[in-house]
Amino acid sequence: MGRTVLKGTPVCGGVAMGVVRYLDVDYDSFIKEYKKTDKDGELARFVLALKNAKADLDEILSEGEKLSSEEEDIIDMHLMLLDDAGFIEAIKRGIKEGLSCPTSIRKAVTDLKNMFAAMDDEYLRDRANDVEDVGNRVLRKLLGMPETKVEGENLVIVARDVEPALMAGFSEGKVKAVILENGSKTSHSVIIAKAKGFVTLVGVDISKASGSDGCAALVDGKEGSVVISPEKGEEDAFTKKCEEYNKEAGYLAERAGDPAVSLDGRRIKIAANVASPDEMDKAAKMGCEGVGLYRTEFLFMDSDVLPDEEKQTAAYRELLEKAGGNLCIIRTLDIGGDKKCRCLDIMPEENPFLGYRAIRICLDKKDMFKTQLRSLVRASAYGKLGIMIPMIDTVAEIKEAKALFEAAKSELRSEGVSFDEEVLFGIMTETPASVMMAADFAKYVDFFSIGTNDLVQYTMAVDRGNGLVAYLYDYFDPAVVRAVYAIAKAGRDAGIMVGMCGEMAGDALAAPLLMAMGLDELSMSPSVAPEVKEAIRTCRSDDVDLEKVLSFETAEEVRGYLEGLLNKSTC
Ligand code: PEP
Ligand code: MG
Repeated sequence: MGRTVLKGTPVCGGVAMGVVRYLDVDYDSFIKEYKKTDKDGELARFVLALKNAKADLDEILSEGEKLSSEEEDIIDMHLMLLDDAGFIEAIKRGIKEGLSCPTSIRKAVTDLKNMFAAMDDEYLRDRANDVEDVGNRVLRKLLGMPETKVEGENLVIVARDVEPALMAGFSEGKVKAVILENGSKTSHSVIIAKAKGFVTLVGVDISKASGSDGCAALVDGKEGSVVISPEKGEEDAFTKKCEEYNKEAGYLAERAGDPAVSLDGRRIKIAANVASPDEMDKAAKMGCEGVGLYRTEFLFMDSDVLPDEEKQTAAYRELLEKAGGNLCIIRTLDIGGDKKCRCLDIMPEENPFLGYRAIRICLDKKDMFKTQLRSLVRASAYGKLGIMIPMIDTVAEIKEAKALFEAAKSELRSEGVSFDEEVLFGIMTETPASVMMAADFAKYVDFFSIGTNDLVQYTMAVDRGNGLVAYLYDYFDPAVVRAVYAIAKAGRDAGIMVGMCGEMAGDALAAPLLMAMGLDELSMSPSVAPEVKEAIRTCRSDDVDLEKVLSFETAEEVRGYLEGLLNKSTC
């Protein structure tokens, strides 16, 4: 195949050189060869295919490479879909009405997929891909198609989509990059690819790459480009780029354990954003000092029942113990918006990001909230805990949440349960209301953590998942920069700790600015911690002329100014 360039949206950066493994399973040609029997015969074939598909997943669960709990949850979810009475009945009905088994499977998959795809929130829309993955697995069994074997070294996987179960099985030693046509930042496969550290692009038109299996490929995860069958000179130049990248990554990894101290001695705490205690080993390896955001909603999502006090206490305790005495900020349930869970009966809404979400749900479902607060307080006996409440808009919400926290403590006290009386109580500042009210909020809490992911969406009135208006979604927009500054100043003036756990905290370019604003802690995905630490080590806390930055009128000016600083410090 001749030189071909693909473009896509970067999800996980880095550079990779390897060999294309083009995964395009041609179901249509197998279906064309399929010989239909009578209805009973078709039904029997379906039952057998279903059994074999389940056996495959059971085998992955029991014998596959060590799976994270997130990966196990996904496979469990696929097993549940294979047991779903409605799904199975729809396929059997099709067969009884005279469809061939493959056609009936495809029809049932399409119907269920369309139902998910029509849903408003991104998380549920992404579940449409899970339905297709499960249907395809049954089809492969029915049609006697081989399971995709990903063998070889330095592989660049190019696919329309990769089933989560397959992605979970990709070895970090063999696969270097994943190029997907479908998928978004929150689809299960992409979550797994990111956790494994694969250079990942989504939204790539892979039709241009059909026939590229076995060809060399150069993947630039920062630029979002893939060059297939590159020219010789190009390959040489890219080799140099990889060497530089690896040298830099190696250098940063070696220094990951050192603290982030600026040239003039200002120390910033670098903490980890995690969704499960399983991620703590990687966080420690990347030099994170404790946790700045544990998204507890992942304990609740994909579960049919609310996790009880014992289950929650065990998870929070595990996190605190793994943090070895470092502060862990655990966020109370932030469900709603783009995050749904089956165990909570929440009605669909016109504007879920502006609706029944986070603390609003918790203050409505007080028993559930109280269980979480009791679990957190109980776990505090095993480490240093900060409890963080998301989506705070009013002083009344803080007071009510705090009263429930105090009630949980006094209940446990009277039950003779020991806990840490010094547990910190803080809030996420992520709405325009929290910017305006920051000085008042600071009177009631021990810390602020700035959630730029939501602060950008609410300040700019731009849905964080909507590609059509993504050009407005920018944390360097002066409106957001000024909002961040206002929160930081209010927190500093009140003498409380101010951190940030939105994506802006993990951007090395933003580090000198956030340091100049006086932030105490930056919390981020562990994989970017070494780079942010280095950015802090190579600048002074007064490098940024804050007055100047706060006077800029465009995001380009802010970015340009910070890039200028970066170039100066790396010269
Ligand atoms: C944020 O809003 O910045 C944040 C960290 O929370 P989430 O992304 O979970 O909404
Ligand atoms: Mg948020």
